[in-house]
Amino acid sequence: MSLLAVAGLTKRFGGVVANRDVSFDVRPGELVGVIGPNGAGKSTLFDLITGVLRPDAGDVRLDGRSILGQRPDEIACLGVARTFQKLRPFPEMTVVENVMIGAFQKTSDVAAARAASLRALEAVGLADRAEAYARALSTGQRKRLELARALATGPRLLLLDEVTGGVDQATVPALVRLVRELHARGLALIVIEHNMRVIMEIAERIVALQLGEVIARGTPSEIMQDRRVIDAYLGEAWRA
Ligand code: ADP
Ligand code: MG
Repeated sequence: MSLLAVAGLTKRFGGVVANRDVSFDVRPGELVGVIGPNGAGKSTLFDLITGVLRPDAGDVRLDGRSILGQRPDEIACLGVARTFQKLRPFPEMTVVENVMIGAFQKTSDVAAARAASLRALEAVGLADRAEAYARALSTGQRKRLELARALATGPRLLLLDEVTGGVDQATVPALVRLVRELHARGLALIVIEHNMRVIMEIAERIVALQLGEVIARGTPSEIMQDRRVIDAYLGEAWRA
């Protein structure tokens, strides 16, 4: 059975159809990639899955049960965590305090939240910055902090929105390694990623979006050869 099933999701913002009849599923422990040009509806899809937005039509099922209409914190408690494309740590709080915000979704015990947060910081390689102010972090470190905050909720399914986006090229391999490690530990992931080389390398299956619609679904090699994907997204540079 699938861990997550997205069925016929549609979301409109005025005249813009950000998601139109989007369907796919994620099996336990699977890493599914989501690709598509800017404005394709990728971040909106995450908002719909995590309860930030309510769809106009369609359903989101976790373990076969609909989670539609549940609040983001309730969905987090069920084991679905996500990172945001736009980073927004609290700059005047320490790194570990920022991560504890995630941990408090699972526990109200301060010591337990702190312990879980330090473990999450350890997992992302940021433990040595635990007591630094968040404002002192580089973009790559902020990405790790955002990841730790999501991990501290103890997810079964983790949604990553452009985790390598906006970081300098030298930082990308370490972030990719981290994602691979989380996957190797059995975590299921949905990864929005602009770097084609990265997504082709790490994803087991890929969903390609364009203007809110699924234009292709398949293994990386199937996606790489898909005419609609090549035309819509990858363009001449890829073909060459
Ligand atoms: P992506 O993450 O693939 O770049 P988004 O999901 O952010 O795409 O956006 C999909 C479309 O929906 C875009 O046309 C965007 O302008 C629009 N959109 C997203 N969020 C909102 C919103 N809160 N209000 C109005 N339009 C939105
Ligand atoms: Mg986006």
